[in-house]
Amino acid sequence: MTTFDDRVALVTGAGSGIGRAIAIAFAAAGGRVVVGDLDPERAAQTAKEINGSAPDGPAAVAVTADIADEAAVAALVRTAIDTYGRIDVLFNNAGIIDTMALPAEIPPELWERVLRVNLTGTFLVTRAVLPHLLRQGRGSIVNIASEAGIRGGAAGAAYTASKHGVVGLTKSVAWAHAKDGIRCNAILPGATLTNIADGATFDQAGAARLSPVLALGDQLAQPEQMADAALFLASDAASFVNGAIVPVDGGWSAG
Ligand code: NAD
Repeated sequence: MTTFDDRVALVTGAGSGIGRAIAIAFAAAGGRVVVGDLDPERAAQTAKEINGSAPDGPAAVAVTADIADEAAVAALVRTAIDTYGRIDVLFNNAGIIDTMALPAEIPPELWERVLRVNLTGTFLVTRAVLPHLLRQGRGSIVNIASEAGIRGGAAGAAYTASKHGVVGLTKSVAWAHAKDGIRCNAILPGATLTNIADGATFDQAGAARLSPVLALGDQLAQPEQMADAALFLASDAASFVNGAIVPVDGGWSAG
């Protein structure tokens, strides 16, 4: 079994869904976790859950931080270093969906927000964490992209462009820092049972144009299935895997 004994992970968007599952799985494998989220209650709940079952005392700290806000990102990373002295693994997970609207129908402010959170936010956290990984001479970054990072029919144009950007950022970081002992990979989740669509209003015309979301009937993935793949990429078992863009979609992208 993979262990993360004495390793420290920073997980963004860890208050819900895939990020929550990653944080819990990382702690269960022996690691300590900085639970970042925009929503303070969600972040606190995940940390409480981890700490409630940690055999050797608290293994998680909750931090409220909007990854789209550079100052908040700096504070998030500072808390990680102040609390645990190091960061070994960054899971860039926080993200939001768009309305699936057709390109001509997307309000520019929606475009800006989706790009700001999903792409610029991922960049800002990566940029803030990299100096710590470089100083250690090792580290692993796992980006939670999406099927929409490699295809045009999986979401609206804003989300699709943002996740293609995350795929590009993943390859760029992997290539730039391969010789520094830092690996950067991405998973591409298929449709997963989380809270991401809560309160969302979808554009009917846009949604109707999108390709069928699932290759496996109407089966949705569980967040824990995404966490398994993300933890593998973060672990020493993937020590020579760098710049990989890994679909975790039950076969959807193979069709
Ligand atoms: P979720 O909504 O259940 O969880 C996302 C968490 O991120 C929430 O707790 C939310 O508060 C937090 N968050 C949102 N904006 C933030 C910000 N600006 N700063 C910090 N935290 C923020 O969603 P999820 O499905 O678990 O999504 C996690 C990642 O997985 C996202 O990047 C998403 O694009 C990706 N993804 C999800 C699916 C799916 O079907 N659920 C499919 C492909 C990719």
